[in-house]
Amino acid sequence: MTINLTERQQRIIEIVKDNDPITSKEIAKQLNLSRGALRSDLSVLTMANILEAKPRVGYFYSRDNSYLRDFDELYGQKIKEIKSAAVVVKEEASVYDTIVTLFLKDIGSLFIIDQQESLIGVVSRKDLLKITIGEGDIKKMPVSVIMTRMPNIITVKDEDTILEAAKLIVKYKIDSLPVVKIEEGSAESDQQIYRVIGRVTKTNIARVFVDFGLKI
Ligand code: ADP
Repeated sequence: MTINLTERQQRIIEIVKDNDPITSKEIAKQLNLSRGALRSDLSVLTMANILEAKPRVGYFYSRDNSYLRDFDELYGQKIKEIKSAAVVVKEEASVYDTIVTLFLKDIGSLFIIDQQESLIGVVSRKDLLKITIGEGDIKKMPVSVIMTRMPNIITVKDEDTILEAAKLIVKYKIDSLPVVKIEEGSAESDQQIYRVIGRVTKTNIARVFVDFGLKI
């Protein structure tokens, strides 16, 4: 409820911050307004807990800032709380079968895994569209030929925050991020395994945003 402050309300906050405790009469004087003209702004700001009114003393700037905690709660939410299930495809799957999986699972991107079930690539709708307008036989061509591959895959972990995920999606202009858990490989290979344990998409983030809007 504190998001859309008017210019005048912001000005009032500044005045109270610098001069508190301050009466409404003094605030009105600084703004060249009547006290009556300020009444609704002051009640908005006190209801939003930005200002506190003490009878016979005046207005204080609320150092409590509980409204800001709501934003921490929003941006600080962990990936594990908002992720969806990932759909993975084996590297030897054909482009054709991958497209079928995309439709069956009603999903925009698929993650590609190797024999050890470690993440090795991502394939998006446009990657698949692009190859279908070429000459190749998509029933014979393995998806690994067209995927975006490691080490260029942008990933997140369960404990990362929604803000970190949203920043990556914006920075790299992509729709989804695999959520991975890094495990040590077998003694022989000593290669780390990027186990896919979910995905975060623009939709997940939009949903959190909408839920937050409904809550306040
Ligand atoms: P689309 O290509 O359908 O618009 P994206 O915007 O998600 O979907 O993908 C854009 C490009 O980025 C594609 O080539 C895709 O393979 C690649 N890509 C998608 N997700 C990732 C990711 N998490 N890390 C690295 N590359 C990605």
